[in-house]
Amino acid sequence: MPTAMIGQNPLCDGQVLIEGEVLRALGTYRQHKSSDAEAGGLLLGFRRGPHLHVTACTQPFPADKRTRTSFKRTCAGHAEIAYMRWRTSQERMDYLGEWHSHPEAKASPSGIDLREWRKLLRDRRDALFFLIVGIDKHWFGIGMQSRIEPMSMRSADNEPLQAAPSAARDENCSHR
Ligand SMILES: [Zn+2]
Repeated sequence: MPTAMIGQNPLCDGQVLIEGEVLRALGTYRQHKSSDAEAGGLLLGFRRGPHLHVTACTQPFPADKRTRTSFKRTCAGHAEIAYMRWRTSQERMDYLGEWHSHPEAKASPSGIDLREWRKLLRDRRDALFFLIVGIDKHWFGIGMQSRIEPMSMRSADNEPLQAAPSAARDENCSHR
């Protein structure tokens, strides 16, 4: 199983930790074969002070529109799962961002990706994390308001997320 990965948010003083279980699930959507369609979903987890902790993701539903080079999340199932997780976690588990796959060895965002992400960020104060699953190499990035920056992630073995005091939970990067 892939180990968890951690990275420094270049836009503020926070870190992003993504659990190995999530990376394992996303890794199954690598588009090795020419017949493999793009996949995508939501990234879910916890905001702890300025830190993001990605602990879950949604995966494609049969109703989603998928081709070799495009993915459109049309199924309401993604939002339903996010809502259910939010409810059952005493409203702590949050929407943290988006993932999708690309049929390229080393993934990087397209112009359409950047445009869509900017739309998502426009009306938010908090950061969103973006992940593109590549055949060999994933792309990680973070966005806040009009800025989107790539992030380098490393193995988080023996390197837990800097524990933020729970009192700081409602305070996030964008307030600084
Ligand atoms: Zn894309």
